[in-house]
Amino acid sequence: MRSTMMDLPLQVSRILEHGSTVHGSSEVVTWVGADAPGGPSRRMTYAEVGVASAQLAYALRDDLGVTGDQRVATFMWNNNEHLVAYLAVPSMGAVLHTLNLRLFPDQVAYIANHASDRVILVDSTLIPLLARVLPELTTVEHLVVVGGGDPAPLVEAAAAGGRTVAVHHWDDLLRGKPERYDWPELDERDAAALCYTSGTTGHPKGVAYSHRSIWLHSMQICMAEGFGLGPTTRELAIVPMFHAMSWGIPYAAMMSGASLIMPDRFLQGAPIAQMIATERPTLAGAVPTIWNDLLGHLDANPVDTSSLQEVIIGGSACPPALMHAFAERHGIDVIHAWGMTEMSPLGTVARPPAGVTGDEQWRYRYTQGRLPAAVQARIVGPNGELMPADGEAVGEVEVRGPWVTSRYVGEDEPDPEKFRDGWLRTGDVGTLSPDGYLVLTDRAKDVIKSGGEWISSVELENHLMAHPAVREACVVGVPDDRWDERPLAAVVLREGATASATELRDFLAERVAKWQLPERWTFIAEVPKTSVGKFDKKRIRSTHAANTLA
Ligand code: ADP
Repeated sequence: MRSTMMDLPLQVSRILEHGSTVHGSSEVVTWVGADAPGGPSRRMTYAEVGVASAQLAYALRDDLGVTGDQRVATFMWNNNEHLVAYLAVPSMGAVLHTLNLRLFPDQVAYIANHASDRVILVDSTLIPLLARVLPELTTVEHLVVVGGGDPAPLVEAAAAGGRTVAVHHWDDLLRGKPERYDWPELDERDAAALCYTSGTTGHPKGVAYSHRSIWLHSMQICMAEGFGLGPTTRELAIVPMFHAMSWGIPYAAMMSGASLIMPDRFLQGAPIAQMIATERPTLAGAVPTIWNDLLGHLDANPVDTSSLQEVIIGGSACPPALMHAFAERHGIDVIHAWGMTEMSPLGTVARPPAGVTGDEQWRYRYTQGRLPAAVQARIVGPNGELMPADGEAVGEVEVRGPWVTSRYVGEDEPDPEKFRDGWLRTGDVGTLSPDGYLVLTDRAKDVIKSGGEWISSVELENHLMAHPAVREACVVGVPDDRWDERPLAAVVLREGATASATELRDFLAERVAKWQLPERWTFIAEVPKTSVGKFDKKRIRSTHAANTLA
């Protein structure tokens, strides 16, 4: 029997129309700096976002000639205009491509060319950065500059590449355009947005989210089991809009009426602390390194953070010590979450089951989290054999679901290295419990293979980062004649703190098996980070590969 339900497409334009009317008084706020004229922030209601989205769509269609599913890229920080682009571009049927501005210029060029970006919206503060890439861009015809600033370097850079690119200004383009747009009806399975993985090996790979996947994913983000967004939420969205769609928060906010606080380019501990004290977010999300910086800043310069109830930490494993520090010193609950660009990105969120209270909660909160209904996971052994979800068997995590990609952009067939029988091979290694909690021991490529045994680099890091003198610790496997690989610990000490390698090794010896203890230690000023703020283990490995024992 067929259902009797209406078959209406799930479109981004519906999220936009709903947010800008039903939640028209919710707002997006962009930090411009405490000392900036008119500062510290710029505000737009969601009703105004609706108007600007219509105006941007008219400008793209009528002035720039964007038609069909052409790609409109953004080279932008998290700010009001980026939210407008997030909504307008897919709503008109074009495809939004969020360019990661922290990638090397040749990678940005590769991605923009691979995606055939025709238009790039660029923050004026990023003009010099885009100008370095522009000569290599082969498909871009229009640039739209957001904010004041001299666009001449862009014209010159395009000319240097032998191309003519028209440069427009956002305000000029939108001025006088009609305030309502008749959004077209689209196929919900068509691409709405494109995001590339940061490509730690080989070229970055593209994932195309559909209108439908964005809808379903946004609903999960809003659920209490997800990030729990609602009209009273004020979300400080620190995770960049070019990193896995800011974890889906912009769409979820517009859908639920949650207000957004956008940090723009102010991503250090001091301005984030100011934003929290001034704009009073209730929720925030970012990778561990950002929270680690903020913690250091808050400990030394306390401000009123009482509005902030939860911070979502994901992108890489959150050290338990960081969770405890926020809870005990600042009364903020850290919620651990796991996902991937390939998964829109939400996989799991670590909320304890009902009835679990007190210290027992930590057992669940340390995990990567519990699966939502739409995401299935399985644990697979080295020969592709299925392993039990008993919380014990360790293997590669594979997932599938309606917001998980089934292949990469441009591939006719799924790459068997990354996909198996309709499942995505995450490259993450861990266990799955019968009640759906995932615990990751490591990324497959970061596990240290020592004499046939596996050492979890993350476990060693977590223990080291619980030492009071340690600010950051990154553990990687380096070649070893006898054991194939042995762990090397690269440690950043807190300012003014001292600790020797022997002391840290003794500290670890109380917590892990003796054969796992690193023999090689190096003290560094800062752990190198990837374009999305994660420990760059590849760089640490290559710098210290030759580190032999004294
Ligand atoms: P990139 O591959 O560029 O780092 P992604 O954000 O898509 O970008 O990376 C996804 C990967 O990040 C996951 O496969 C996993 O290895 C890691 N990751 C994300 N969240 C967590 C977490 N909570 N704990 C451990 N690893 C995580």
